[in-house]
Amino acid sequence: MARRKKIYEGKAKILYEGPEPGTIVQYFKDDATAFNAEKKDVIDGKGVLNNRLSEFFMNGLAQIGVPTHFIRRLNMREQLVRSCEIVPLEVIVRNYAAGSMSKRLGIAEGTQLPRPIVEYCYKDDALGDPLVTEEHIAAFGWASQQDMEDILSLALRVNDFMSGVMLAVGIRLVDFKIEIGRVYDGDYQRLIIADEISPDSCRLWDIETGQKLDKDVFRRDLGSLTDAYSEVARRLGVLPKSNVTKPTLIN
Ligand code: C5P
Repeated sequence: MARRKKIYEGKAKILYEGPEPGTIVQYFKDDATAFNAEKKDVIDGKGVLNNRLSEFFMNGLAQIGVPTHFIRRLNMREQLVRSCEIVPLEVIVRNYAAGSMSKRLGIAEGTQLPRPIVEYCYKDDALGDPLVTEEHIAAFGWASQQDMEDILSLALRVNDFMSGVMLAVGIRLVDFKIEIGRVYDGDYQRLIIADEISPDSCRLWDIETGQKLDKDVFRRDLGSLTDAYSEVARRLGVLPKSNVTKPTLIN
């Protein structure tokens, strides 16, 4: 069998050329990194969980009319996605203060924000993805004014959808990051949700206990990351129940 052409290898995923033009195969690795890859580990099963969870969220978004790059899942670790130009921004939406915002502004983690706050970081590992303003984005031509209006609207729609889905299973969506892709349909360009949406890129806290069910479990050494992600998948009905009662043998 011919070897597939690798297009790009990132910290958590590998992209291969897809079977048809304009498609890409997105492979989810088990590698976990934090603090710009200063902390690294391999977490058995993480890739499988994120592949399934990202499929679940992207499908849900498509159902409410939010365009995404997701086409279909191929197997346990791979999904077929539409190829797109990635806008060089990490778009972060926050509902509660946590992480870098708490540090930067001295607001206690868990403080509810008066309204969702959208932040933009310039995607550059060497610089540690610095926070930027719309002034930088416009001046350096990373996105147009129209793009920024579309990105804000997409980000808030994803926030409403994800907050609702999570609330229904007793989880608070504290914050998340999305990436945006640019696709061309004839002469028109439009923006779609790309990359992944998974507990690697969200903060998810149990509403009752405050237990963290996201990558902070790895960043802060709070226990098993696969247990946390499996719990999210189990509550969303994404994974089959693991505690299926074994048949009892009767003589
Ligand atoms: O670290 P910070 O508090 O800015 O992260 C905000 C949100 O964005 C968190 O949910 C985090 O997991 C996500 N994020 C990400 N990738 C990055 C930076 C942040 O997924 N490079």
